[in-house]
Amino acid sequence: MSEPIKAIAMISSGLDSMLSAKIMHDLGIDVLGLHCVFRFDPTVDTNTQSRIEKLFEPVGIPIRVEEITEPFFQMVLNPPHGYGKGVNPCIDCKIFMFRHAKKIMQEIGAQFLITGEVVGQRPMSQHKPTLFHIEKEAGLRHLIVRPLSARILPPTLPEENGWIHRDQLFDISGRNRKSQMALAESFGFQIYNQPAGGCILTDPAYSKRAKALLQHRDKSTLKSEDFNLLRLGRHFWTKDGLHVIVGRHEDDNTYLESFRNGRWAFEAVDVTGPLVLAEGIQNDEELRLVAQITARYCGHGKAEIFRIQYESVEKSDILEVVPIRDEILDPWRI
Ligand code: SF4
Repeated sequence: MSEPIKAIAMISSGLDSMLSAKIMHDLGIDVLGLHCVFRFDPTVDTNTQSRIEKLFEPVGIPIRVEEITEPFFQMVLNPPHGYGKGVNPCIDCKIFMFRHAKKIMQEIGAQFLITGEVVGQRPMSQHKPTLFHIEKEAGLRHLIVRPLSARILPPTLPEENGWIHRDQLFDISGRNRKSQMALAESFGFQIYNQPAGGCILTDPAYSKRAKALLQHRDKSTLKSEDFNLLRLGRHFWTKDGLHVIVGRHEDDNTYLESFRNGRWAFEAVDVTGPLVLAEGIQNDEELRLVAQITARYCGHGKAEIFRIQYESVEKSDILEVVPIRDEILDPWRI
């Protein structure tokens, strides 16, 4: 008996990738579900393997989760095709993911790639010319099967080789989800995620902070943890390029604790208050300024002067300051 044809299905937690993997699995292809994950949000659940395995149980394929945060972050800093509305480099993101998948195809002897892409569904990366450009850049020309839209796309190598047939695939296009819902019902999928703007790089508030960071800091000094920090606290950029992050509540303060290294940390001595982290402090005047910002968010006691302790690898001390006035602080808020 001949060996089954192997393929990798790029899977997210959305319905389209579940459907695509299921269609190909049912056609007798030996499918491995590949979920590439980048983490720019320290507050999200990190137990991805079991979450995706549970979600894909009805598909019946093995799942491999690949953590790609660091190399992915380097691409996000300088995407050749630019960003969408936020800091989402969708075209380069796909090229990056497909290149990564190609390496795993070679490693496990897979013949082609499957995606849940639907022609015309998303503005930036799912128009036909862009789809072809992306697969060419990834070195996977004619090797990406998109089962949901395959019949309105040119034949791929797996079709030409007779491993799969056009009439077993679909001709879905556009943003309407009716066909996908009907297909999900026919497969008996009970639980699946609705399509959502799940990528943090498309989030407007997050993107605004990321753009400020990219504008003020030398990109070569940035690390992925700088992007993680954007999810936490209140952010301020002073006119002199000081970056100050103020914990909003206990959870923020707990997460911020793990980002102290290499940054200045400020906390009130006598009253309850936030953990405040700062970068770019050059002199005593700026130390005092951040202490005043810290004081602004300290308890609501009557004291007008707060004692604020600061600490870094260079030095630590206690400053007595009055809170900064909101009319000075507010224009710096991002
Ligand atoms: S939305 Fe995010 S995950 Fe999706 S293609 Fe764009 S950058 Fe990549």
